[in-house]
Amino acid sequence: MSDKITIAIDGYSSCGKSTLARELAKSLHYVFIDSGAMYRGVTLNALRSGCIVNKEINRGLLIKSLDNIELKFQLNPESKIPELILNGKNVEDLIRTPEISSFVSPVAAIKEVREVLVAQQKAMGLRGGIVMDGRDIGSVVFPNAELKIFVTADMPVRVERRYQELIFRGMDSTREEVESNLTRRDHIDSTRKESPLTQTADAIVIDNTNLTKDQQLDAALELVEKAISEIA
Ligand code: C5P
Repeated sequence: MSDKITIAIDGYSSCGKSTLARELAKSLHYVFIDSGAMYRGVTLNALRSGCIVNKEINRGLLIKSLDNIELKFQLNPESKIPELILNGKNVEDLIRTPEISSFVSPVAAIKEVREVLVAQQKAMGLRGGIVMDGRDIGSVVFPNAELKIFVTADMPVRVERRYQELIFRGMDSTREEVESNLTRRDHIDSTRKESPLTQTADAIVIDNTNLTKDQQLDAALELVEKAISEIA
């Protein structure tokens, strides 16, 4: 039997989930999937195909548009980070804009969107050896994951991280705008009807407010070791 386990990482926006998932996958030679990128890809496609006009989402049209979306990840040879490919085009930068962030949570709250993406995510994890981060990974996508981590961090730290990421990507924003977007997404993500963000009873919390990336990774690697020894 393979000792490669399935690792589910959940938490609020900009808590450092993807960073942890990516580093963990790199250390363990596992596959890393940022499920949020897939919801962002659907949102970008919806904006491009006229399913969102004057800030209004045309639900019926958006659901239809799901038939014409192909989402894949491709490893960037330099950064070694998997990047989102939407219908054959790399959209990694385009899905990280404040505009996409402002529409992604209402789009992700649509049942049909979740059904399509969750089915793809489950298929990606069939062979184990995967670290996936998101909001419903431990609860819906991989309810039997051998290790579930729930990442948290204080709001000012989350705001600063997202703000610095936007600046790094050359995008225009303010800390106030970032905080208001995070607060709104936290609210929608945790109160929506379809698989809301929750901390499952078997998830282990890592609060990284005062942790460096390396400290956070070490804490997670200890949890992995323990999870593997428990199934051996
Ligand atoms: O992780 P990220 O912030 O990029 O995710 C963007 C949005 O996608 C979240 O705010 C949430 O609305 C949605 N999402 C979700 N379920 C997931 C991952 C992301 O609903 N598994």
